Order: sequence, then C-alpha cells, then structure tokens
Amino acid sequence: MKTLNLSDKNHMKGIAVSKGVAVGKAYLLDHSKLSILKQTLEEHEVENEIERFRNAIAKTKLQMADIKNRAEKIADKYAVILDTYTLLLDDDILVNDTIKNIRANRTNAEWTLNQTLETFLNLFDNINDDYLKGKKDDLDLLVQAILRNLMGHSQETLSDIQEPVILVTHSLSPSDTLSMPRKFIKGLATETGGKTSHVGIFAAALGIPAVTGIKELTSQINSGDKIIVDGIDGEVIIHPTDENTDHFLTKQENYRRYEERLLVNIHQSAETLDGHQIHLLANIESNQEAKTLYKYGAEGVGLYRTEFLYMSASSLPNEKELYENFKYVAQEMVDKPLVIRTLDIGMDKQLSGIQTHTEDNPALGLRGIRLSLAQPDLFFSQLKGILRASFYGHVKILYPMISSVTEIIQANELLQKAKDTLKKEQIPFNEHIQIGAMIETPAAAICVDHILEHVDFISIGSNDLIQYLLAIDRVNENVAHLYQPFHPSVIRSLKQIFNAANNAGKKISICGELGGDPMATMLLMGLGKIDNLSMEPHSIPKVKKIIRLIRLEEARQLADHVLNLKSVEEVSRFIANEMRARFPDDFDRDLSFQEKLKPA
Ligand code: PEP
Ligand code: MG
Repeated sequence: MKTLNLSDKNHMKGIAVSKGVAVGKAYLLDHSKLSILKQTLEEHEVENEIERFRNAIAKTKLQMADIKNRAEKIADKYAVILDTYTLLLDDDILVNDTIKNIRANRTNAEWTLNQTLETFLNLFDNINDDYLKGKKDDLDLLVQAILRNLMGHSQETLSDIQEPVILVTHSLSPSDTLSMPRKFIKGLATETGGKTSHVGIFAAALGIPAVTGIKELTSQINSGDKIIVDGIDGEVIIHPTDENTDHFLTKQENYRRYEERLLVNIHQSAETLDGHQIHLLANIESNQEAKTLYKYGAEGVGLYRTEFLYMSASSLPNEKELYENFKYVAQEMVDKPLVIRTLDIGMDKQLSGIQTHTEDNPALGLRGIRLSLAQPDLFFSQLKGILRASFYGHVKILYPMISSVTEIIQANELLQKAKDTLKKEQIPFNEHIQIGAMIETPAAAICVDHILEHVDFISIGSNDLIQYLLAIDRVNENVAHLYQPFHPSVIRSLKQIFNAANNAGKKISICGELGGDPMATMLLMGLGKIDNLSMEPHSIPKVKKIIRLIRLEEARQLADHVLNLKSVEEVSRFIANEMRARFPDDFDRDLSFQEKLKPA
C-alpha cells in the first residue's frame, strides 16, 4: 500500500493490538489522579480507619467480581485476565502493608495506601521486565478504584457517551472497558498497555481497532478532535487532511472486506492444491474459550496452557476442579483433539505459593517439567485431573520444557502411578492416552530422536526454542529486535526436528507463535511433513487461506532455497518477497513482520 506523507507532530506510532481502522471524533478520558491529603489520626481513631480501609477493599472486591461476571458475557479470555485484580486485592503486601503503616504512622487510609503504591511503583521502575510493567498498570488502576471507594467517589464511567467516538486515554481500567457503550466506541488509543494487556485482548475480542503504548498521546489530543486509529500498522493520526482521511477510509474498507472474505471458507480443510492436508488447531488459556473456536475453523485444541488456571485462582486448583475444567473442554471438542500441557510455571509466569525461591535467571530456572518433578504432589493431582477428563474426549498430555529423556521417564512414572491410583479408585480414564513432549530447548532439539522413542508425538514450542537457541530473552525489550524466528539456526533446527519425527513416523505439531505467522506458513510446510499447526484462533483463517493456495512442491522448493541462505536478513527478504509476490492482498497490509527486523 502507498505510504502517506504525514508530519511527525500529527502522526504518532504505537503498538498495533487490534486490527482495523477507525476514523472519527476523539473522546478524551481524563484519568487525572485523585488528589490525596495527608491526615494524622488520634490514637483512638486508628482501628476505625483500618475498618474503613477493609470496607473499601471489600467493596472493590465486589465491584471487581461484578465486572468479571459482565466481562465473561463479552469476551471469555478477557474475564480470565480480570482475575489478576482480585488476586491483587488478596495480596498480602498491598493490603497488609497499608494496614501496618496506618497503625505505625497514624496516617489516613488514602494517604497510606498511596504511599504503599508509590513504593511498589518505584520498585517496578527499576525492573526491566515487560511482564512486570504490565502488572504496574494493573496495580495503579486498582489502587485508584480503592481510593474512589474510600473517598466516596463513584466509579468513573463512560456510559454518558451517546455518539460514535474514538476513545483516547492514558490507561483504561476494566470498569471503563465494561461501562463504555461498545456500539459507540469505534476505536481505542492508549498511552499504556501492550499486545497482551487487558485493553489489547478486550479490543481484539470485540474487533475494535486499537493502538496502545503511545507516549504523550493525551497531551496532543482534545475531545472532539478528528483522529484516525490504524490498528493494522499501529498509528494514530491527529487532525488528518482530507487526503489522509480518504486514504484511511479506503484502508478501512479494504480491511473489512478482507476479513469478511477470510471467514467465508473457514470450514474447508487446510489442504494444499496438490492434496496435502494438515490440521489447524487452537492455543487456549482458559476453558471458556472452547465454545468460540469453531468460529475460526479450529479443528481442536493443540495447546491448552494450563498455568493460567493456577494463576487466576485464589488457591491452587485441586484434582476435582482440574478434572471438571478439562472435562468441559474435552466435551466441547467432542471427538476433536485436546492437547493439555502440564503446568509450565516459571519465567514470566510466576505463581506465588508454588515457587519458594526467587531466581536470578528464571528462564533457566525451575520452570515447566522441572518444577513439576520437583513438586510431585502438584504434578500428580494435575495428571489425575487430565486422566479423568480423558474418558470424555480425545485428550492428550504434553510435557513442557523437556531437556532430557530422563525427565520424560520420570514424568511417565508418575503418570503410571496416577493411572494405578485411578484404577484402585475405580474411576474411568483412557488407558492409552497419548503423551507428547514440547521441543523448546536446544537439548531437546538436538536429541529429539531419543525423545521420540518415549512419546507418541512432539510439539515444537518455537517461542522458547528461539529464545534459547539465540540466547535472546523473549520478554526483554532491549533485545527484542534480535529475537529472529528466521535466523538460519532456527530454520536448520526445525528441519532436523521434522526429519527426526518423520523418520520415526511420529506426529509433529508447532504450537509457538511461528506456527500462526502466515509469513512462515509456506516455509514450515516445505521443511518437512507437519501434522498440526496450533495457534491463536484468530490466526487460523489467514494461515488456512495460504495453505489452500499453495502446492507442497513449491513450498519444498522455497524451503530448500532458504536452507542455503546464511543470514537472517537474506532469509527474511527472500521470504517476504516470495510471500508478497504470491499473496499481495495478504502481506502488504501487515507490516508487523518488518517491525521485527528494525533495530531497537
Ligand atoms: C512456546 O514456547 O513456543 C510455547 C508454545 O509455550 P509458551 O509460549 O507458553 O512458553
Ligand atoms: Mg514454551
């Protein structure tokens, strides 16, 4: 697509979190913070103050529960994210530190809570970690909600909006997102938040074009200003000229039609022109997503990341709760596969109460299967939960972060024990449940032939495999530009893994982001025989479209050529040119691939 000449002042770059284009009037939501005064209490007033604080916490909890209930009706995935807020309200440090300090300093609850928040935010500022930065916004929003309850302010609401607008704000709280009249919100632009923030997930679930992470956005825009939000390329244009507006209206219409076309043939099989079929499955994080998968043509669940089930609960889920959760998804899938990955806690997915030590290098620490083997009781109850659900569908087990055959043997021993226990308890399960290993460490990639002897299938976790192969922390923004899926070492490793699985006659899937990146589809198909690609459900239509328009032989030729290229730049350029030439409608509009090549 032709690029426009836009002046820097009127053209702000951010992160594209929900695709589509919105053109309209800005509505500036001013989240200026409440002003808080310090008051010193008399000794006899302290306990009353603590009671007042506890009441405000209880009220905020009820509000959050209500928000969550409403959220479930709108976007299931979003509701899971909201559990974080409830967890923060139960958090010992936030609540107990404030109570301790009210007593110690004899200061009013508002002031003391705000001080606790400041201490936290300062701590977060010194940590260079995307995941924790996301939590910082959550914490800030939550404290504002408690403060409003303490000060008797009602929750801010957007329900007064009566006409179509583009919402512009520093940050958007869960209550904002739920109170806003969605039919009038045509686009969203925020200063905070990233792809996995609740704003991003919410906007994507509702199909509202959204751009986040735009510094100083709110100081440049007033309510009523004409703006454009381009959620495809991550831009906001302020006071567009007529020429700009025409350009983006065309882009908007083209994108709408494009999406419509993608969904038309969604229930056809993912089969190449020369008759080679693979299966496109969904990655899910909660059982509530199971119901919506058919919309995107998913042929089952290729990766159920179970750790969110633990992270969103106030106490560890027991065997029965796990069983019921898994059984629900298994039954929703009917005879389609459901691959349940055992707990992959660690690195950016921490769980207090399970991990007893903080680690200097959590990505290389006690994560995935290592943690499960170190805490066999936890693992055992999960295995029993999965086994019990296996009676109700086509359930498979997947072990994460495998780096040796020994870990599989040990995990399988526990699995056998779980089976023996269930037999004694006369609880039915599938005795022949299939076992898979994630191939996501270089050790597993190199010794994949050995691993294949102990499992029924393997699934490549490209997110971690790339991280460990290239020694690039996948959540560190300073090295994000070096996280390169098209690095020749990644492609060679994939080829070797495919060869080993194909020679062993075992099934192979890819469940990392690469599997759902349409730019990589042809390369992956050409590298070897793949059985399944598992991805975020909304990526399925585009990947399917590409598969249905290629011949396997062409994909093989492309892959053979790529295997001879020596630098990531050569590979990226070659693939981008090939894909753009073959699919001009599908790649010109999606520049996220190019973004990855830019230096920081
Ligand atoms: C992966 O590493 O590619 C993967 C699918 O697992 P996660 O992203 O949950 O680590
Ligand atoms: Mg992984």
